[in-house]
Amino acid sequence: MGLPKPQAKPEIKYTKLFINNEWVNSTSGKTFPVVNPATGDKIVDIQEGDKADIDKAVKAAQAAFQPDSTWRTMDASTRGELLQKLADLIERDALYIASLETLDNGKPFKDSYGIDVPYTIKCLRYFAGWSDKIQGKTIPMDGNFFCYTRHEPVGICGQIIPWNFPLLMMAWKIGPALCCGNVVVLKPAEQTPLTALYTAQLAKEAGFPPGVLNVIPGYGPTAGSAISHHPDIDKVAFTGSTEVGQLVMEAAAKTNLKRVTLELGGKSPNVVFADADLDLAADMSHFGLFFNMGQCCCAGSRTYVQEEIYEEFKKKLVERAKKRPVGNPFDEKHDSGPQVDKDQFEKIMELIDSGKKDGAKLECGGKRIGTKGYFIEPTVFSDVNEDMRIGKEEIFGPVQQIIKFKTMDEVIEKANKTSYGLAAAVFTTDINKVMTYTSRVKAGTIWVNCYNILRTTCPFGGFKKSGMGRELGEYGLHQYSEVKTVIVNTPTKNL
Ligand code: NAD
Repeated sequence: MGLPKPQAKPEIKYTKLFINNEWVNSTSGKTFPVVNPATGDKIVDIQEGDKADIDKAVKAAQAAFQPDSTWRTMDASTRGELLQKLADLIERDALYIASLETLDNGKPFKDSYGIDVPYTIKCLRYFAGWSDKIQGKTIPMDGNFFCYTRHEPVGICGQIIPWNFPLLMMAWKIGPALCCGNVVVLKPAEQTPLTALYTAQLAKEAGFPPGVLNVIPGYGPTAGSAISHHPDIDKVAFTGSTEVGQLVMEAAAKTNLKRVTLELGGKSPNVVFADADLDLAADMSHFGLFFNMGQCCCAGSRTYVQEEIYEEFKKKLVERAKKRPVGNPFDEKHDSGPQVDKDQFEKIMELIDSGKKDGAKLECGGKRIGTKGYFIEPTVFSDVNEDMRIGKEEIFGPVQQIIKFKTMDEVIEKANKTSYGLAAAVFTTDINKVMTYTSRVKAGTIWVNCYNILRTTCPFGGFKKSGMGRELGEYGLHQYSEVKTVIVNTPTKNL
C-alpha cells in the first residue's frame, strides 16, 4: 500500500497541561514556543509546566492510586482493554498523529507513519496483553507457613521523554507502567510535546480514569528536575543524555530512593569483517547511522572496517551517504529531514569541525543545507580513531566515523574502549566470529548482520554509562512492579 498524503499543516488541538483528565494552564502562567525544525519558525506556544504543576499532577496521581479508587479496583483485564482502546484510537488517527510528529520533530513523514506510529500501536497492544498476566508465585518454605508473592504496582511513576522518538518513547514508558497498574506523571521533551499532548486526550477518550495519566510539558531543569526530586514519586524512568541521567539518579538517591531506570547515550561499534556480505553490511551500516538523522541512542557511530576491505567498503558508504536525499520531511522522496533544533544543529556542526581539526579525513558532507531549518549534509569521516572527539563522543547527528582494524582481538578491545554500552553490531559470514564477538562485546543489544532492529517483545537497554534496567519485553515489566512476600501462619501443613 502506498503512503497516504500527509497533513502538512495539522491542526494543533492541545497546548495546555493535562492533569486529572483536564486541560489546565500552568500555575506560573508561562508558555514556551515549539518550533518547526524544518523552517525554524514557531508552530505554537505551549503552557510551560514547572514544579508547582508537577506537584498538582502528583496529587491527582495520588488520588487515582488510592486503594479504593476506580483504577485500583479495576479488573486487570479491563486495564488491558483500556490500553487496547488507546492503541485503537492511535490507529484511527494515525495520519494526523504522524503528520503532527513530523511537523514537531522533523522526521520524514514516511518514518512517522511507517515506523513511529505503528510501533507505538504494537507496543501498547503488547503491554495490554500483559495486563492480566502480572502474577506472583507460591513458594515452599520450612515450618507451618504458606508463602506467596504479589506483584504490586510501584505507584506514581515519573517519566521523562526525549525528543528523538517522542511518541514511541512515550509508548515504551506508559505501556508497561499502566499495564502493571501504576499511575503516571509524564514530561515530554520541550522540543517535541505535541504528540504526547494529543495522546493524553486519546487516553481520556479511551476511558482511563482521571489522574492515571498526567502530561506536563516543560523544561528539564524545572519540570524534569521536579519529577526526579519529588518525594512522592515512587519511580522515575528517563531517556536522554548520560549527563542528565546521572542527575536524575543523584536526585533519586538524595530524596526518597525512588526506583530509577535510565536509557542513555551510546557510541555503538559496528564491525564489518572482510568475509561479510559487503552490500548488505553497507546498506545496514548506512541505515544504522543515518536513520532518524543520526538521532538514535543506538546509532552505529563507530564503523570498524577490516583492513583488506577498508577502501572498497569506504567507497560503498560514501556513495550511499552522497545519494541520501535530505529535505522537506513531508516530501516522500526524502530519507532525512532536519536535526531537531538549533542547539543540536550547532553541537553537530562543532563536532564536524573538531573532526577536521583532529585529522580525520572528511569524505563527504560536512555542511549545512540551505539557510532555513536545521538540515545537515550526510557526512562521512574516514581515518578516525578513538582519541578524536568524533571517535568517542556521542554526536547524535548524520556523521559517520570509519575506523580501520586488523584482527578480532584488536576490534573487540576497541569496541569496548568506551564508557557506553548500549548497542553493537557485527557483519560476518563466520559463525565463530559471531560467537566470539557477541560474547565479548559489552553492550545491551548486539545485532548480527543487521542493524537497528527493535521489537516490542525484545528487551532494550544499556551496559555501563548507557543506562540501567531494560525496557520492552517481559524484562521491561520488572521495572514497574514491586514484589511483596506474604507469609501466612497455617494450622496444617500438607505437601
Ligand atoms: P537531555 O538529556 O537534556 O533531555 C532529555 C529529556 O530530559 C528532556 O525531556 C529534557 O527536558 C529532560 N531533562 C533535561 N534536563 C533535566 C534535568 N536536569 N532533570 C530532569 N530532566 C531533565 O537531552 P538533550 O539536551 O535534548 O540532548 C542532548 C544529548 O542527549 C543529545 O545530543 C544526545 O546525545 C542525547 N540524547 C539521547 C537520547 C536517547 O535516546 N538516549 C535522546 C535525546 C538526547
